[in-house]
Amino acid sequence: MSSPTYHLITFGCQMNKNDSQRISSLLRGIGFEPTERKEQADLVLINTCSVRQSAEDRVYSLVGTFGEIKRARPEMILGVTGCMPGRDRDGAIKKRLSFIDLYFPTAEMGQLPRWIAELRPELVNSADIVEDYLKITPDRLAARQAFVSIQTGCNKFCTYCVVPFARGLEKNRSLRDILDEVRELAEHGCVEVTLLGQTVNSYRAPDPEAFSKANPYVQRSFGPLGGPHDDGMGRHFAGLLWEINQIAGISRLHFTAPHPLHMSDEVMDAMTLPAHLQYLHLPVQSGDDEVLRRMNRRYTAAQYLDVVDRLRAHCRAMAIGTDIIVGFSGESEAAFERTVELYERVGFDLSYTARYSVRSGTAAWRAFKDDVSREEKKRRWDVLQAVQERITRDKNEAYVGKTVSVLVERHEPPKITEELLSAPEDIRQALARQSGFCYGNSREMKLVRFVGGAEMVGKIVDVQVKRADTWLLEGSLCAQKSF
Ligand code: SF4
Repeated sequence: MSSPTYHLITFGCQMNKNDSQRISSLLRGIGFEPTERKEQADLVLINTCSVRQSAEDRVYSLVGTFGEIKRARPEMILGVTGCMPGRDRDGAIKKRLSFIDLYFPTAEMGQLPRWIAELRPELVNSADIVEDYLKITPDRLAARQAFVSIQTGCNKFCTYCVVPFARGLEKNRSLRDILDEVRELAEHGCVEVTLLGQTVNSYRAPDPEAFSKANPYVQRSFGPLGGPHDDGMGRHFAGLLWEINQIAGISRLHFTAPHPLHMSDEVMDAMTLPAHLQYLHLPVQSGDDEVLRRMNRRYTAAQYLDVVDRLRAHCRAMAIGTDIIVGFSGESEAAFERTVELYERVGFDLSYTARYSVRSGTAAWRAFKDDVSREEKKRRWDVLQAVQERITRDKNEAYVGKTVSVLVERHEPPKITEELLSAPEDIRQALARQSGFCYGNSREMKLVRFVGGAEMVGKIVDVQVKRADTWLLEGSLCAQKSF
């Protein structure tokens, strides 16, 4: 008998992608196989994102499409998980998805075997549940790179954000579990680890006794962890970075998403350890103090700039990215201009700019009017985008002539177009010899392209940059390290 099949669709952030890898692993463990043929799948699961209304609207539309398939195949199990069920306190979202079979927040994914067994017992080989979903080992596809969750949930309650409602309060994984996972990844050839958390640098190990005796961030003159000088401002996180630096094979380490409040000197110091990439993604959201206060971000623009200055004092070459929301409630033109000023002052390498979208259930939804028009939000977004493109291009041009270290992530074969097929013989022969393009990120998280073959995927190579534009550095392979 053939195995039952599942089709898993993921929206949203890296955390959601990592959760989907856990769901995959769990489903494989009870006998399921993944399928791309969604109409034929025994189980379809949609892992949702609530960060913006547009993300939820896409889910409603997709679930509607599967609802039609389900009318023809009522035995198909259709489920929705992730942030939408997580934040649905009054059941309003569930009401709109009344015909689905499974509806559960991320943290309950370990119950899936039991629920499937109740619906279609013939599909599963075990109905055993997993109480702590973070104990499920993610099913990873790319062996050389891995995301590792160190924390879920958030205690910060930024007024625009659904995460504390969707994922609950901050919960940290045990240090032992994290280090075991990273060691196992390294043993299987992984070279790059990205640590995931909602405010990753607020990490506090529930088992601080698992830190090594030699760990300098834990043993410094600050006194023992848990003692009177343990203010939690990043020492555990710095200690974790140090521990991962000791694991042989992990040569690229970074994290997302830190909170400026926890960017202590210890964390910055640990970011200069050899494995750490030269990139920090540090959300600022606004450059205006009153907007930051209404967002409940807990820092001022000056405090954010102080973090950037201290970071650059630790590591001049560090590339910095950020997240910005334009058009938040009460954001005046002058307030927006202060965001532009801050952007210019920092000179971000990259920014994900969002137009404010009010989310039901949040404090901003209760307390503030969404009073910046759609057109004005779009205009501000365009202004920042233009600033970003200019600054990013200038920054990238500084790489021309330099050598960057790249982990090759994918290969694109040479494109053979109709036009080229009818080209003269010598051009066609040259084309046949061409090996296509390799793509990967440098240690500064710049996308790099160079001519190379598919055998380069997974390798760390040096590339000399010949040309730069806003989103791409192009270069040629100059040396190959053996890993
Ligand atoms: S820090 Fe703020 S924006 Fe980030 S997850 Fe927590 S509440 Fe949301």
